[in-house]
Amino acid sequence: MSENGATEPVSRMNGDSGTLLEVRGLHAFYGESHVLHGVDLDVREGEVVTLLGRNGAGKTTTLRAIMGILGQRKGSVLLEGRELIDLPSNRIARLGIGYVPEERGIFASLNVTENLLLPPEIASGGLSIERIHALFPNLKERARSQGTRLSGGEQQMLAIARILRTGARFLLLDEPTEGLAPVIIEQIGRVVRDLKEEGFTILLVEQNFRFASTIADRHYVMEDGHMVDMIPNADLDANMSKLHDYLGV
Ligand code: ATP
Repeated sequence: MSENGATEPVSRMNGDSGTLLEVRGLHAFYGESHVLHGVDLDVREGEVVTLLGRNGAGKTTTLRAIMGILGQRKGSVLLEGRELIDLPSNRIARLGIGYVPEERGIFASLNVTENLLLPPEIASGGLSIERIHALFPNLKERARSQGTRLSGGEQQMLAIARILRTGARFLLLDEPTEGLAPVIIEQIGRVVRDLKEEGFTILLVEQNFRFASTIADRHYVMEDGHMVDMIPNADLDANMSKLHDYLGV
């Protein structure tokens, strides 16, 4: 990071297994309601990490708290060693973190290309429209379709593509597969794997741990605003009954 505090984006080094994000003792509140109770979480550069847990466990709130889009948060959120806890969300985004919320935020009155071009670049090296079309062929076909006319899967792809345009290299994805057909979930999985190969780092909320197991290196499990477990993907089979208990499935 520069000494004058200017925002420098997340580094582009591939193959660096250093810690990118280090969250310690994170508390978050909605008004009077205390939702996160001291969450710890690490994400290494180039990893895909999932947050699993039942409805209401605090997964979305964890992503929102990392991005600083909550009323109040306490604790420590370090990005490459830099403390984010007192930074506003626009400064956090400019450090190279791209957040794709569950509601996707596609503008209904704009077409696919207009939606893609809307967010400002936060760093150089964002994906070109050509690269985005290669990654998401559906979006190329639908380039002139209005947001309202897109399927749920197309909207999800557009929401991810739009963030990739901005130059963000660390992605926070909230339930990218929610409500989508299996064939679309497979496409999203392929995109996540491609991005990982290109050196992106991804933290995603997932309800579908079968999908999560096909893309992630590690899984964190949340319950009632606490982090209760971390399971490496290689150990998932051995932990399946525990995971069923956590998730109530
Ligand atoms: P889900 O998959 O259902 O979204 P989650 O694990 O992502 O689950 P959160 O959305 O983070 O859970 O919610 C954690 C808790 O915070 C829940 O008890 C929820 O009711 C509460 N909560 C979420 N958003 C708000 C809000 N805007 N105001 C008040 N409470 C909220």
